[in-house]
Amino acid sequence: MEIFKPLDLLKTETPSDIENIGRVKCLIIGSGPAGYTAAIYAARANLQPVLYTGLQMGGQLTITTEVDNFPGYPEGITGPVMMDDLRKQAERFGTDVRFGEATDVDFSGKVHKVIIDGNKCIEADSVIIATGATAKYLGLEAESRYAGMGVSACATCDGFFYKGKVVAVVGGGDTAAEESTYLAGLCKTVYLIVRRNVLRASKVMEQKVLNTSNIKILWEHQAIDLFGENTVEGVVLVKKKGTPEEETIRLKIDGFFLAIGHSPNSEVFRKYLETDGTGYIKTLPGTSKTRIPGVFAAGDVQDPVYRQAVTAAGSGCMAAIDAERYLSEIYAKDENFQKNIQNQC
Ligand code: FAD
Ligand code: NAP
Repeated sequence: MEIFKPLDLLKTETPSDIENIGRVKCLIIGSGPAGYTAAIYAARANLQPVLYTGLQMGGQLTITTEVDNFPGYPEGITGPVMMDDLRKQAERFGTDVRFGEATDVDFSGKVHKVIIDGNKCIEADSVIIATGATAKYLGLEAESRYAGMGVSACATCDGFFYKGKVVAVVGGGDTAAEESTYLAGLCKTVYLIVRRNVLRASKVMEQKVLNTSNIKILWEHQAIDLFGENTVEGVVLVKKKGTPEEETIRLKIDGFFLAIGHSPNSEVFRKYLETDGTGYIKTLPGTSKTRIPGVFAAGDVQDPVYRQAVTAAGSGCMAAIDAERYLSEIYAKDENFQKNIQNQC
């Protein structure tokens, strides 16, 4: 069975003004739970990993307050503290954590090349991609004003804080259906704000939403603003925008959940790796292996389904173990591998 489509290789040239900053056994790209967990395992396996943090050091959890569902913290923990702990744990075993962003890659050779910040080139015998995904927002100024104060893009993460309260979910796809059904189990009322008069969600998910008595669908509504003194107290909606029946409504809610999709941070890698229609990197089922030997993917960048810190951490562990086994194999096959291939950058 063919798992990955045939590769149409692109050989990229590295401009000569790019500085070669050396060769590593294991390069990890991303500093979320997946990247740091991969680093802990890779460092303990003596792969001497170098980890580039990207612009958001610590990843998505650094923009949230309480994380109550990561095992091992009975009292919960704030996202930034948890990520700082993960970084320290990775550094304790010798991970070289560097600030910088992967801006280009060349996975066409035996040794991989990754361009950092557009001006440095690092060679790596194995690469673990853990660049995460970014939730889409509507782009309202109020979304950043109330970030962590009633606005969330993750019902599984934050739903618990709205137990018995009234919330709204924006979106009409499977994620919105799933998030609103989940919230309906916790909250008094869930308003599902749908911009069209149909759901995009699958029929089975749609049926679940329609059969849940405390989900109220607001068809052909669009959220244009939020209000509230310090936290979200309500949403301003426009009904049937652009029609003669257009109407503006102020609806009282306690929480505002976005469920309009996620964008995986995979652009830099797409010319070499296979991705699904949304851009999630495809891995060999049950592993972290991509189509390119020595390149592994972990965390949200390859996970359209679960997108949780603990699953990201778990897949980071898998990627480090896969990388370690890959390196043992190639070093065993060619004991001069590390010496023979030089100066890829
Ligand atoms: P991320 O955490 O997204 O980290 C990606 C990393 O990659 C970042 O460090 C970024 O800087 C880096 N990066 C991106 N592009 C590049 C590049 N080109 N070069 C170098 N680095 C790059 N999950 C839970 O389990 N519990 C919760 O309570 C919870 N709360 C959440 C609250 C919010 C507001 C959000 C947005 C998400 C929440 N989640 C929660 C989901 C959880 O944060 C993610 O599932 C998890 O962070 C994914 O981990 P990751 O390592 O795959 O990626
Ligand atoms: P999606 O299918 O792209 O749906 C996004 C939804 O958000 C659409 O209803 C869209 O409206 C709406 N939307 C987008 N931008 C908006 C805006 N600016 N204002 C208001 N509404 C907006 O995304 P998804 O629901 O995250 O699903 C992504 C993929 O994952 C899908 O393939 C889905 O099947 C899959 N998934 C599956 C499951 C499951 O099977 N359990 C669960 C979750 C996700 P329009 O419809 O008008 O475009």
